[in-house]
Amino acid sequence: MNINGTTKTMGLIGNPVEHTLSPLIHNTISKKMNIPAQYMPFRVEDSGLEKAIYGSYELNILGLNVTVPYKEKVMQYLVEIDDDAKRIGAVNTLVRSETKHGFKGYNTDMLGLQRQIHEEGIHLKDKIVVVLGAGGAAKAVTYMAYLEEAKKIYVLNRTYEKAKNLAKDMNQTFNKKSGKDFLVVPMLLSNYNEIREDKFIVFQATSIGLYPNNDQVVIEDHDFYQKIEYGIDLIYNPSNTRFMQLVTDNHGKAYNALKMLLYQGVIAYELWNKVEVPKEIIEDLYLDLKRKVYPKDNIVLIGFMGSGKSAIGKELAKRRKMNFIDTDTFIEEKEGMTISDIFSTKGEEYFRALELKTLEYLRDHVSNTVFATGGGMPLQSKNASLLKEIGFVIYLEASSHVIYERIKYCKNRPLLQCEDPYNKICELMKVRKEKYRNTADYIINTNSNNKNATIEAIETYGKEHIKGFQ
Ligand code: NAP
Repeated sequence: MNINGTTKTMGLIGNPVEHTLSPLIHNTISKKMNIPAQYMPFRVEDSGLEKAIYGSYELNILGLNVTVPYKEKVMQYLVEIDDDAKRIGAVNTLVRSETKHGFKGYNTDMLGLQRQIHEEGIHLKDKIVVVLGAGGAAKAVTYMAYLEEAKKIYVLNRTYEKAKNLAKDMNQTFNKKSGKDFLVVPMLLSNYNEIREDKFIVFQATSIGLYPNNDQVVIEDHDFYQKIEYGIDLIYNPSNTRFMQLVTDNHGKAYNALKMLLYQGVIAYELWNKVEVPKEIIEDLYLDLKRKVYPKDNIVLIGFMGSGKSAIGKELAKRRKMNFIDTDTFIEEKEGMTISDIFSTKGEEYFRALELKTLEYLRDHVSNTVFATGGGMPLQSKNASLLKEIGFVIYLEASSHVIYERIKYCKNRPLLQCEDPYNKICELMKVRKEKYRNTADYIINTNSNNKNATIEAIETYGKEHIKGFQ
């Protein structure tokens, strides 16, 4: 980014801040929206928090995020606090006050989670909500459940005292506003089977199950999970936590909260820059975040028929001791018929749905694999996104002329069984080329027909970008 005298600064204060994903969120938005604002993480010691807040304001910093361990402590250094953040008792976003000399605090964690559940179509109105945990995140969840007009909110915690205090604070706040009695019920975590209702929505807001302790969960009992309609884990790494697995094993719907992380950032960005971040940018950003948080070790080769995807893919897989999957063959084997038979007997709509389902399956179940994809696969934008989630996408590019020379004698390419196959290739290439290019992380020109050079180029790229490729 070009930094000049008008560039604004946004940032994050906390300790530690080294693993934060926020710079990726905010700097990507600035770049895509062409807004001259840069985001930096600042590691601040406890003893320097006050000076850091006042100093940032004097340095004309546009806004700050606040993370562990300062979300509560920072409140004393603010000139205003948004009502919801005050009731939650924590802020994670500081915006320059419009009327006073200092920052105003917001809680966009809560707003981010609320935006996520709305997007997933989850509604808490008149529902029983169970919150596991009574820390900072649980407070935000409980308050959101109140705003969403949940019927009753159980807060279950290992340390009962903390659940009791949370319930007491929230009930006092809510009673003042709504007059309802004891909306929030505290409970010792191990007493979960005392919940009388037989259907509820659960928010997992403890730190249990967080990577690398992927196999941990605070409640193991399947009877509990059988009552869960939706289970939302505030942990997003791993992507499928043990809690989420238990929810789906028992026929509930499960979500992690990576979108909450994304939305809390987007909402903060919107508050600071007084803009609305477009939906397409948010969707791209979600994909970027997923790829950053869940790094893949697969390679996906895309390109026109005859670009060498299968031959290069097989050879690469052999050299790197990776598995090899040809997506067309994979689909054909699963369906027990050829792709042209699927098209002719079941129709294109069926095939497209099958393609999507297959890619979702491969994304969730396959690693250390080189994929050769059908030439038309990346043309659907949903497929293109899934391919990027599966692995690093490499486009083997070749000119129409080279492609024609390579496949002119092939009889097994139905698309080319026409009077003027060269012209047909040129026409298709015109439509496809940009889509291939836009989907690719890396493009290799294969016009020279040098298989070894292409494989070496992939290996060089892999060493820099792909987990475990050294
Ligand atoms: P916190 O304030 O430290 O609270 C931790 C909670 O976990 C407490 O309720 C604690 O119970 C419970 N806990 C810890 N160890 C436990 C154990 N061995 N058995 C049972 N319970 C245990 O943390 P937080 O800020 O609320 O964060 C909670 C989780 O939410 C974290 O994993 C965090 O990564 C996630 N989070 C995600 C987002 C997002 O954007 N997706 C945002 C915020 C937080 P005790 O009170 O008994 O110690």
